[in-house]
Amino acid sequence: MKLQRILPFAKQLLQTVVQRGDTVVDATIGNGHDTVFLAKLVGDEGHVFGFDIQEEAVLNTTARLKSEQLRKCVTIVQKGHQHIKSTVPVERHGSISGAIFNLGYLPGGDKTIVTLPTTTISAIEQLLEIMKPEGIIVIVIYHGHEEGQVERDELMNYVKTIDPGVAHVLQYQFINKKNNPPYIIAIEKC
Ligand code: SAM
Repeated sequence: MKLQRILPFAKQLLQTVVQRGDTVVDATIGNGHDTVFLAKLVGDEGHVFGFDIQEEAVLNTTARLKSEQLRKCVTIVQKGHQHIKSTVPVERHGSISGAIFNLGYLPGGDKTIVTLPTTTISAIEQLLEIMKPEGIIVIVIYHGHEEGQVERDELMNYVKTIDPGVAHVLQYQFINKKNNPPYIIAIEKC
């Protein structure tokens, strides 16, 4: 298949905008795969701020970063992403060029702990306020589970109302696959 699959497309979008030295956000670190990817993109001169509410995610991500010798340029916090604005130091706000959300539950972890629409939307709103123009927020929506469908619906209602003068909103989705495969919403700040 020549069409980009969902997760490679998410990375490609981030690669388009994130430069060495930038500040970026992994809003749901989970097992740390995206955190490592972002840390490599920004390099030692840049910085990744990673959020997750679960200790297991913090431990898994910290171990992954350590094994890749990438801890210097990353700050991991065991806090919800709804605290992005107060966590990322003000002097770094204007240099945030990219952010990623992988919604849903921690793979291999407790499936009852999931991202929630209110806090996800709050985090997106904060990012749109503080990140630099042309910065991109990539959201991978997993809607195979019941709460994921509720989150998808609330999130879609929200992103459709974002003023086009504030941000461009893209949906990237395979529409003929079964079992609700994940899809992407990308938001580029104007
Ligand atoms: N990107 C991750 C990876 O590479 O493994 C996968 C992320 S996983 C699909 C979703 C994560 O979101 C879970 O680890 C969960 O604990 C976390 N989460 C749930 N609510 C959150 C919140 N309010 N803020 C930050 N993380 C949250």
